[in-house]
Amino acid sequence: MPDRGKLIVLSGPSGAGKSTVIQRVRAARPNLRFSVSATTRQPRTGEVEGEDYYFVSELRFLEMLARGELLENAQYVGNRYGTPRAPIEEHLNQGRDVLLDIEVQGAAQVKAAMPEAVTIFLSPPNLETLRQRLVQRGTDSPEVIEGRLQQARVELLLAKEYDYIVINDDAAVAASEISAIITAEKCKTADRIQLIEVQLQ
Ligand code: ADP
Ligand code: 5GP
Repeated sequence: MPDRGKLIVLSGPSGAGKSTVIQRVRAARPNLRFSVSATTRQPRTGEVEGEDYYFVSELRFLEMLARGELLENAQYVGNRYGTPRAPIEEHLNQGRDVLLDIEVQGAAQVKAAMPEAVTIFLSPPNLETLRQRLVQRGTDSPEVIEGRLQQARVELLLAKEYDYIVINDDAAVAASEISAIITAEKCKTADRIQLIEVQLQ
């Protein structure tokens, strides 16, 4: 029976660099699975159904919610987002670590339901850099960018609720810090003590 995997929850303002950093962490940790969320928002150019998100209608989303299929869900800038429950349980039971990229309300729901979840807040170095990254990404209109910056202030206030904070100045450094957090969590005494105990039998 493999050890249960770790559930890692990553939050941070839109444009903080979550997708960029997650790509690097996944490259470094092949055992890590990414939880694919359901969303009612429209796909951005280049986004792939079933890889980036499951793009669903409002009706389908509400159906998933009513059936208890979502571990958590939230509305964010006018769209619904939710985490399918079943794949997460399966991966954790098989000993695979799972990474969730979800916003702050959803992260709080996961922590309440599964206190063993490890929560990490990814912050931009400052709000001006965040604005530049949103402009540079080129996926949002100036009005949407202003909305996201206002939302970012609200989210930064909640950083103190997380187990860890990582600043995304250099993406390679941020990714290696996240990977280090996962490694440290897997070395916790509660998870490792049985390896000592069998030596004493
Ligand atoms: P999020 O997933 O948090 O919304 P993205 O990963 O899409 O953010 O990043 C937003 C923009 O900032 C992208 O254009 C990305 O290439 C850029 N970016 C991300 N991290 C860094 C970094 N450390 N330094 C410079 N640019 C970055
Ligand atoms: P985006 O539209 O930029 O992909 O994501 C917007 C926000 O929704 C991000 O903060 C992202 O972390 C969050 N998000 C993505 N999937 C989920 C989810 O399943 N649940 C919750 N609560 N938030 C999500």
